Amino acid sequence: RFKTFEANRIANIQDLIPPQRWKHVDGLQNPADVGSRGILAKEIKEHPLWWTGPDWLKQNQTNWPSKFTAPPSLEALQSLGVTKDCLQLKEKEEVTLQTTTDTASTEPVIDITRYSSYIQLVRVTAWVFRVVTRSNLFSSTPLAVSELCKAKTWLIKQAQAQMFPNTVKLLRKKNPLPLSDPLQSLNAYLDKDGLLRVGGRLSQSMKDYESQHPLILHGKHYLSTLIAQSEDKRLCHAGPKLTLGSLQDTYHIISARRVVRKLIRECIVCKRASPKITTQLMGQLPSARALPTFANERVSVDYAGPFTLKIGSVRKLTYRKAYVAVFVCLVTKSCHIELVSDLSAEAFLATLRRFVSRRGKPTQIWSDNATCFRRTDKDLRELYRLLQRPDIKESVMNFCSSQGIQWKFSPPTGPHHGSVWENGVKSCKRHLKRIVGETKLIFEEMTTTLCQIEACLNSRPLIPSLDTNDDDGISPLTPGHFLIGRPLEALPSRIYKEPILGLKRWKLCQALTQHFWKRWSAEYLNGLQRFNKWKVPKRNLQLDDIVLVKDNRTPTCQWSLARVTKVHPGPDKLVRVVTVQTKTGTFIRPIVKLCLLLPAKEVPKKGDEMK
Ligand SMILES: [Zn+2]
Repeated sequence: RFKTFEANRIANIQDLIPPQRWKHVDGLQNPADVGSRGILAKEIKEHPLWWTGPDWLKQNQTNWPSKFTAPPSLEALQSLGVTKDCLQLKEKEEVTLQTTTDTASTEPVIDITRYSSYIQLVRVTAWVFRVVTRSNLFSSTPLAVSELCKAKTWLIKQAQAQMFPNTVKLLRKKNPLPLSDPLQSLNAYLDKDGLLRVGGRLSQSMKDYESQHPLILHGKHYLSTLIAQSEDKRLCHAGPKLTLGSLQDTYHIISARRVVRKLIRECIVCKRASPKITTQLMGQLPSARALPTFANERVSVDYAGPFTLKIGSVRKLTYRKAYVAVFVCLVTKSCHIELVSDLSAEAFLATLRRFVSRRGKPTQIWSDNATCFRRTDKDLRELYRLLQRPDIKESVMNFCSSQGIQWKFSPPTGPHHGSVWENGVKSCKRHLKRIVGETKLIFEEMTTTLCQIEACLNSRPLIPSLDTNDDDGISPLTPGHFLIGRPLEALPSRIYKEPILGLKRWKLCQALTQHFWKRWSAEYLNGLQRFNKWKVPKRNLQLDDIVLVKDNRTPTCQWSLARVTKVHPGPDKLVRVVTVQTKTGTFIRPIVKLCLLLPAKEVPKKGDEMK
């Protein structure tokens, strides 16, 4: 006879599946027995019966053992002389099984390193306490605050016992701490729950007991990280200072600053809120900038504008847009500025011709890729689009190649790749803004202004560190020295009364030039030798790294996520440019436009369970 509870369920089962379809499996081959009898976690990992069932289950149904025989009907049994009383099953006697746990086991009951959340760890511990103490075992009531507190106390006690075993032992025996003890200076003591607390000097203060005597934890213990993490989360990722301050109200974590810093460095939400730009050791200067040549032999070209020009007489005044083309010598930083009337290939070629005629033919012209100018003026973008158009590109290229000029494009985005000419344009614009402002100039005024700006730019010293007070008579080296042999702004310093012979004059010029080149290599090139920023090699971006793509137009939280799909290492094997895939497409980006969010090896794979 079964108890009512079991009988009801058996009746239910027999209703659903008729008894004819039941088969028998003996105890040795029944996987359910493994579960109901209990088995160690280690053994169940490799228990074939539990995972795959008995062997015959995989065979055809006809081969299954058919031990099961339907029980004979009650009438048949009675006819054989079996009485009803014999058939009644006796109630099983209740058996109490006494179990003892091996207290000497070395493995902790709860492996806290498997948890990534402090709250969860505390809750699991509280549930384990319920099971161990058999209080409230089968009730589904939520965990009470007292249970959670008990779990927290237990966890902290464990952590303290692991990190300060000697201190705890001494204090338990009520022995004073020796001077060599790490917690001696904190005046540590054990409270009524046996928790290590800071004795401190604040017992007269207004603070409550918890913050007067914070719990002592070691920064190297994983529990400290978990607690700091939960604090960071509770404070909505407010940053290291607040997290640290809030932690110190309850805990005295040894080397807490390091713990919090490390945690915030690894916290994805914090990282997204204030992403750090990836950098790499500065690259070698391109040969175009490091080999001495004549001025304007290797130049870069860029456009600025538009500016408004006044045209016509006072009576019939019209305005039109004009642009400025800036040629910057990559070696000497000398500038050449040209006014351009419109953004057409013809105007550009005319500008180029004027430059070549006046400053000599360059061997290389560098320009930016059109993609750099996404954020600049609409008109400028049009020009670059125009320059990229196949037919116009061809005509420009044809002109250049017929003149023996090499045209080169710098890698897309990342102004540091072309800092020399970016700076040129920036200085030019700054001077223009200061001098011209909003005034609309006529053509003559504009060209004059531009020439004056050009002179200003060519007169700035190449190295900033020269002391202006020293009176050694050496003027700082400027681009102008390479163009005309003296600063542009200076008047001719000496008037030669006696005529200098042609040959002598030529020698003098040569000597002057050589003098400048010597100074260029001593002062300017040596200055470039220094790594101004990004002084140490960093971890290279790798395939499958998850990065944020920097975008100055949007707040950091809205920067799009991307995955690195290809890296482009330089000759020194350091990666400064990568291909990334965002949800909108694939782009080539310099690493200074990216922020590493999650290194590839930490990216969860598909199917991986999150810890
Ligand atoms: Zn955070």
